[in-house]
Amino acid sequence: MDILTQYAYIVSAGLFIYGLKQLSSPATARRGNAISSLGMLIAIVATLVGQDIVDFQWIAIGIVIGGIIGGTAARMVQMTKMPEMVALFNGFGGMASLLVGWAAFAFRPDVGTFTLVTIILSILIGGVTFTGSMIAYGKLSERISSAALIFSGQQVVNSLIVLGIVGSSVMFCLEPSGGGWLFWVIGLSLLFGIMVVIPIGGADMPVVISLLNSYSGLAACAAGFAVDNNILIVAGALVGASGIILTQVMCKAMNRSLTNVLFSGFGSGKVETSKVEGEIKPIIAEDAFYILEAASTVAIVPGYGMAVAQAQHVVKELAELLEKNGAEVSFGIHPVAGRMPGHMNVLLAEADVPYDQLLEMDEINPRMENVDVAIVIGANDVVNPAARENESSPIYGMPVINVDHARTVFVLKRSMASGFAGIENPLFYKENTRMLFGDAKESIAGLVREFS
Ligand code: NDP
Repeated sequence: MDILTQYAYIVSAGLFIYGLKQLSSPATARRGNAISSLGMLIAIVATLVGQDIVDFQWIAIGIVIGGIIGGTAARMVQMTKMPEMVALFNGFGGMASLLVGWAAFAFRPDVGTFTLVTIILSILIGGVTFTGSMIAYGKLSERISSAALIFSGQQVVNSLIVLGIVGSSVMFCLEPSGGGWLFWVIGLSLLFGIMVVIPIGGADMPVVISLLNSYSGLAACAAGFAVDNNILIVAGALVGASGIILTQVMCKAMNRSLTNVLFSGFGSGKVETSKVEGEIKPIIAEDAFYILEAASTVAIVPGYGMAVAQAQHVVKELAELLEKNGAEVSFGIHPVAGRMPGHMNVLLAEADVPYDQLLEMDEINPRMENVDVAIVIGANDVVNPAARENESSPIYGMPVINVDHARTVFVLKRSMASGFAGIENPLFYKENTRMLFGDAKESIAGLVREFS
């Protein structure tokens, strides 16, 4: 039976890896998700059949309750709230690893030093992931202030907590009986999770969530060692590795190092020193239509506002009308547009926009000078030329889509409000920019009406 279980684990691991590979393209992502889920189902069934863990009925009840909660949450969550849900799920993953680590000791206290170390790691990383994710969730959903909370002596406090964790871990390995030291590790890990996330501003939360996702994988991997389960080790390692790769990709897209994200308190310090000058030039849909009708190349650059307005379907309609009118249409996708990696890809895929029309920032920027009209739909920070031009800007150095290099730019948003980074955008004042104010879905629908 054990051999069969191990074979089933190998099949599961293969499905996880293949599923992950498929997730790297929007065209195959859904299938990848289904394949990985199948791998997880096989892993769960094999674990249950192969080992006499706890009464089968309890596990069945757990699966049903968890499945209902997870399925309902995933169905009901709005696309714009997805990062918050991921934060919660990461946190629960961390808590699960903490509990598995603790149970591994509670039920088998006479284990060797190696297992004790893996128990500590699953509790430590799981605990940090749990409270860190809860704070990230609170900041993103604005249940708590999203500002970076920095106070004097913070590093000293954090160093003391780390010392406490190391000390109680060592004591636990030397004196495991009773498990008293383990409760110190649990308590301090939970506290440390709070302390590492509070000094990070809300604007950086999606990166933190991706990092915590990686931690939740590492915690599961450690828990796998603690309970001697190969598939948990493999699945945890895969989550840990993919989470850290995603974190790197996001940091690169914002031209920041991970250290800078974690320790700079973005949003709490650097402020713009120069004031944007110029005049804004509003335009109405009727006039915008005449310019669009004459355009032979159009670049559409969506951002968070397109997600808020749920404008993706009507955007696709406009793109089709423009193409019918003889224009070449492409979509410029910034890697951190929206509020989660791949946010724009997901929305445009939902509206059946062909994948070959989606161009990444590095592909579309060199073409921008030949674009007649760039239509910015609810994007702000990711098209802010201050990132290139203004050294005092908090986003200076972040690569942006250079829509201001197009002949004409239409910016669709409701007001002059700033974006996620909370800074002014000189694009709105440029000579070639026209502001089409209003909800993005209604503004695009207005353009569609003019065309048809
Ligand atoms: P921004 O948050 O910069 O701007 C969105 C704009 O959309 C706002 O200025 C808002 O203006 C407008 N808007 C909101 N609702 C509507 C609506 N219904 N109709 C029309 N416009 C609307 O978004 P970007 O996508 O440009 O940038 C993403 C930001 O998030 C960046 O700062 C990025 O660093 C950050 N971020 C993203 C991550 C990711 O993974 N995607 C990760 C980490 C950070 P108004 O209120 O006037 O309408």
